[in-house]
Amino acid sequence: MNRYAGPLTLSTTLTVMVVVILILPWATGLGRAPVAVDATDAAYRTDHGDTFFHYSIWWAFVNKVFDGDLTVKDLKANGDVGLGSFDFLDGEMIMVDGVPYRITEDGKVSIGADEDQIVYANAAFFDADKQFEMPGPNDYDAFRQRLNPALPSLNYFYAFKVHGNFKKMKCGGLNKQSKPFKDGLDVLIPNRPVFEQENVSGTMIGFFCPEFIGNINVAGYHFHFISDDRKMGGHVMEFLCETPLEVELDRMKDYHFVLPENEDYENVELKKEFQYKKK
Ligand SMILES: [Zn+2]
Repeated sequence: MNRYAGPLTLSTTLTVMVVVILILPWATGLGRAPVAVDATDAAYRTDHGDTFFHYSIWWAFVNKVFDGDLTVKDLKANGDVGLGSFDFLDGEMIMVDGVPYRITEDGKVSIGADEDQIVYANAAFFDADKQFEMPGPNDYDAFRQRLNPALPSLNYFYAFKVHGNFKKMKCGGLNKQSKPFKDGLDVLIPNRPVFEQENVSGTMIGFFCPEFIGNINVAGYHFHFISDDRKMGGHVMEFLCETPLEVELDRMKDYHFVLPENEDYENVELKKEFQYKKK
């Protein structure tokens, strides 16, 4: 049962609304138009400087544009948190506190060098607008369902930093490809290498895109994971966390994407469509 009702309970919300209704005529002055007050999240702080950085487009990635030209150095210039994949699908990427980790098909974790290239990435300079504890237990589905009402609006972009002590964590990797690329992500993802670990603490970095993003990016939530000991990680497929999750979110209203500059991208036909199961 979903007992998590977001940062404010219904009764608290009603109390805030009553107080707002009583104070509003005094605060705004008689004869002036009423001021819209967001009673559901009065503590929310907007930071208009935050930008969602996006390299390549998801649709191109799905259609085998696996040879990118974004360097790790350029990625780090556009954020201190991020997720994505390295060139030729030679590893999943998660960036935490400015350090971009690479998880290769054998499950090994290393740090990406500045000259390494990336084929798809989301990144942001993380500046938490809101922090809260989500009580356990949670699996990945429950986590996403409980996150929805905690977002100030589903019509903005968000970056997330989530720390937990996971009873189980299941991550996906990618098998390294070589040219000419044969299969797209619609074939590779269902057959991806899987890394599982029990009793592992670590950080999930994630992003949320509104539905209107279409095939430009992953619609809804997308999370990658790295353990605190930096020995296990990848694309989050499933987890179980019985203890509370520490959630930080950063709302973004600027969206900046950079397209690859190479023949693969110039010639790609955006035919196939693929999205993760939406929650
Ligand atoms: Zn992923």
